[in-house]
Amino acid sequence: MKIGFIGLGQMGAGMAANLVKAGHEVTVYNRSPDKAAPLVALGATAAAHVAGACHGEVVMTMLADDRAVGDVAFGEGGIVASLPRGALHISCSTIGVDLSRRLADAHEKAGQRYVVATVFGRPEAAAAAKLFVVAAGAPGAVESSRTLLDTIGQRTYTMSESPEAANLVKLSGNFLIATVIEALGEAMALVGKGGVDLHAYLELLTSSLFNAPVYKTYGGFIVDRKFEPAAFAAPLGLKDIRLALAAAEELRVPLPMASLLRDRFITLLAQGGETLDWSAIGGLAARDAGEEKRK
Ligand code: NAP
Repeated sequence: MKIGFIGLGQMGAGMAANLVKAGHEVTVYNRSPDKAAPLVALGATAAAHVAGACHGEVVMTMLADDRAVGDVAFGEGGIVASLPRGALHISCSTIGVDLSRRLADAHEKAGQRYVVATVFGRPEAAAAAKLFVVAAGAPGAVESSRTLLDTIGQRTYTMSESPEAANLVKLSGNFLIATVIEALGEAMALVGKGGVDLHAYLELLTSSLFNAPVYKTYGGFIVDRKFEPAAFAAPLGLKDIRLALAAAEELRVPLPMASLLRDRFITLLAQGGETLDWSAIGGLAARDAGEEKRK
């Protein structure tokens, strides 16, 4: 299939590489052009501007945030202005429900199709094509996306015919993960200050009642205080909690834990955590307990 891929950051680079390796004819675009070089080495073509990646049947986007997606989609020479009628935009970025709805409207008016395919999994899962993909959109459009989504992930879940539902589900998932990180950080601060070995504690948790990837991955980071390099940067974590709160406000759903998490992320950023992984909020409780130097 002839596709464009826009956004070659930590996630997009691996996703685009898997599409090239699967034999698709991929044209890539990234704001900082140097990131296209490894994809070109694999067989992709580099476009010099957004419109250059919008000549195929499909364009996929994996960009940082609402601002990036808004610029790339609605700007002069952007996706909405450049994509042929009938072509499909698959939006994979974690963006707000409101922007997603505006994208759906704009694509419909332009005679284009729009599917949201948000993803769970960190950059290593993206590189290994092991993402969990959450798709939503008109059934025909989702069906047209299926081959590509199966190429970037290990399983695709179709949630709704309303594209923005996949954004809402993704935001709810990251909210849940952040609650786990915060709760693990607090529990570990408690038992750690009480003299318990944290590796033994994590082994207990993850081999008994909390035998799930999210506890294992983030529990390990917290025990080892390994928050660098950032695979999912703290500012992106704050972005997702803010977007979850915005969606919740619109739906009149109070999320008191998300409000707390928003403040945890602001604390982290205020104290120099800008370049850390979002899991670094899991280190705040130990710091609050005076355990900063804990091994
Ligand atoms: P990243 O490494 O920071 O990459 C962000 C991408 O967006 C880069 O290609 C960047 O271009 C581009 N970008 C940023 N602002 C832009 C703008 N104004 N105009 C055009 N391009 C712009 O982020 P990531 O970790 O790949 O995350 C990408 C998306 O996936 C985010 O929505 C994130 O929430 C979501 N996500 C991330 C993970 C994860 O574990 N990392 C997991 C699931 C979902 P430059 O290279 O020029 O900066």
